[in-house]
Amino acid sequence: MPLSATNTPQGCEFFSRTPDSIFTVEQFQGDEALMISTAEQFSRGEVLPVVERLDQQEDGLMPSLIRKAGDLGFCGIDSPEAYGGLGLSKNLAARILEFLSLNGSFSVTYGITSGISQVGLSLFGNESQKQQYLPKLTSGQWIGAYALSEPNSGSDALSVSTRAERKGDKWILNGTKMWISNAKWADLFLVMAKIDGEKFSAFLVEKDFPGVSVAREEHKMGLKGSSTARLVLENAEVPLENLLYEPGLGHHVAFNALNLGRFKLSSMSIGPAREAIGASAAYALDRKQFGRSIASFGLIEKKFAMMAALYYAAESMIYRTGALIDAAFETFGGTIEGNRKAAEEYAVECSACKVFSTEVEGAIVDEAIQVYGGYGFTEEFPVARIYRDARVSRIYEGTNEINRIFMADRLRRRAKEGSASLDGVADSFVGELASRAMRIETDNQIKLGALSDLLMYQYAEQSSRLRALQVGGHCQLLYDAFLPWVNLRGSEAYQILTGEGIQLPSIRPAPFSEIASAVYERKGPL
Ligand SMILES: Cc1cc2nc3c(=O)[nH]c(=O)nc-3n(C[C@H](O)[C@H](O)[C@H](O)COP(=O)(O)OP(=O)(O)OC[C@H]3O[C@@H](n4cnc5c(N)ncnc54)[C@H](O)[C@@H]3O)c2cc1C
Repeated sequence: MPLSATNTPQGCEFFSRTPDSIFTVEQFQGDEALMISTAEQFSRGEVLPVVERLDQQEDGLMPSLIRKAGDLGFCGIDSPEAYGGLGLSKNLAARILEFLSLNGSFSVTYGITSGISQVGLSLFGNESQKQQYLPKLTSGQWIGAYALSEPNSGSDALSVSTRAERKGDKWILNGTKMWISNAKWADLFLVMAKIDGEKFSAFLVEKDFPGVSVAREEHKMGLKGSSTARLVLENAEVPLENLLYEPGLGHHVAFNALNLGRFKLSSMSIGPAREAIGASAAYALDRKQFGRSIASFGLIEKKFAMMAALYYAAESMIYRTGALIDAAFETFGGTIEGNRKAAEEYAVECSACKVFSTEVEGAIVDEAIQVYGGYGFTEEFPVARIYRDARVSRIYEGTNEINRIFMADRLRRRAKEGSASLDGVADSFVGELASRAMRIETDNQIKLGALSDLLMYQYAEQSSRLRALQVGGHCQLLYDAFLPWVNLRGSEAYQILTGEGIQLPSIRPAPFSEIASAVYERKGPL
């Protein structure tokens, strides 16, 4: 059944049709708003006061925080209730994740154990696998990890060389997995390996299985409170029944976990950006130069207005997408095949959210440092840590380059399969450019990247505009500040594709001062 039969847009439909309405975060009300605020209180009360101790990897501290999060139900937030989860929507879970991501190290630890380490099992596990492992993960008693990357297999993920061979009633796994988040604390690893060196498959590997060990911690530039290490499999003995899904179909497990992972990483990226805006706003109000608060200078006001506008655009895209994913699970979910279809449907939107949000995160934390001046370059204030922690968002869950190659290519493939249209809606300046650009056939990677940029900017602009129309007030102000930014970037991408000069449209002057005042009052994005 096509999704449109339920009135929910199909994947990529933003390109060819403007929806009548979209989900916006303003619709999280009542109990949902309460849960989001509990998540923020948890971050502020339990996590932020101990970030230095976390960065020093104090023994047992991170696992104890995960267990506390588990006691509040956060570790199985969108996993089924039958396995100890809260069974919440993916969209609400993502918003909660955003507020649990005010510190990067906690965010990645929590995000992996409640996210990509569990989702493969939830979507593709059989009943006994789910009964055996999910309750331990959803309660926070066990910590999960996701093990795909290897020393020589990163972006080219299907080239893994970890092997699985069947011997009697066991799978014997050999290989090294690299960069495994949570490795030091994990009880369960979702491991990708090739059966007989050929069939890419997924396995549930417990840390205590014979032949499983974890190497030393990587010495990272950020996320120092998280664990990242190699998982070493030396004749590791894995019970036959711990093969997840079908032999040779592990790519469905790995990549669909990543599709949803990219969506969640978007929330995980704007969480620290939100914190950086709040912290630097408080600092700007306090810091005086030339006899007045630096917050009152025009160029500082512009920074805060743009930080808030970029955050707004990312937020508008992410939670619009989350509602679509939930609708897809409602329509298709329940069976393994249906789950697979639901997780794949909005893969382009998930990539657009990932690339846009992580780049916006980078821009926001960079400006936050600038607001602090020299003090931002020291460890005395929280922004230096936020800045270091943020950098990796553009690298993992598929680098932004890999996601850029994917988006435009996927839309074209969908169009060939008949599940998307290449007839662009052109409902804005950027939409018009994207619509013209998609008529250009190209295999050139630089041009393909520019095409993907146009799709991403179209999705960002359309989401921001529809939200502004629906909500008005501060959303309209933020959209007015975002519009010239996105038009400029869209025209840059179009020029890379065509070489044509583009006349930018006239716009209302951006209300920088008004937005900055509101950010100062809230000590955070609007
Ligand atoms: C802190 C941290 C935590 C991580 N956690 C996990 C985890 O829990 N589980 C896990 O499995 N992995 C994890 N990773 C690994 C991460 O997913 C990889 O680092 C990422 O996929 C990139 O792979 P790579 O590092 O080998 O880079 P490479 O693939 O070698 O890429 C290097 C550069 O080349 C570019 N590039 C590569 N191929 C192309 C191409 N075809 N076209 C254009 N450009 C290209 C990339 O975009 C990148 O800029 C983690 C990494 C880090 C740093």
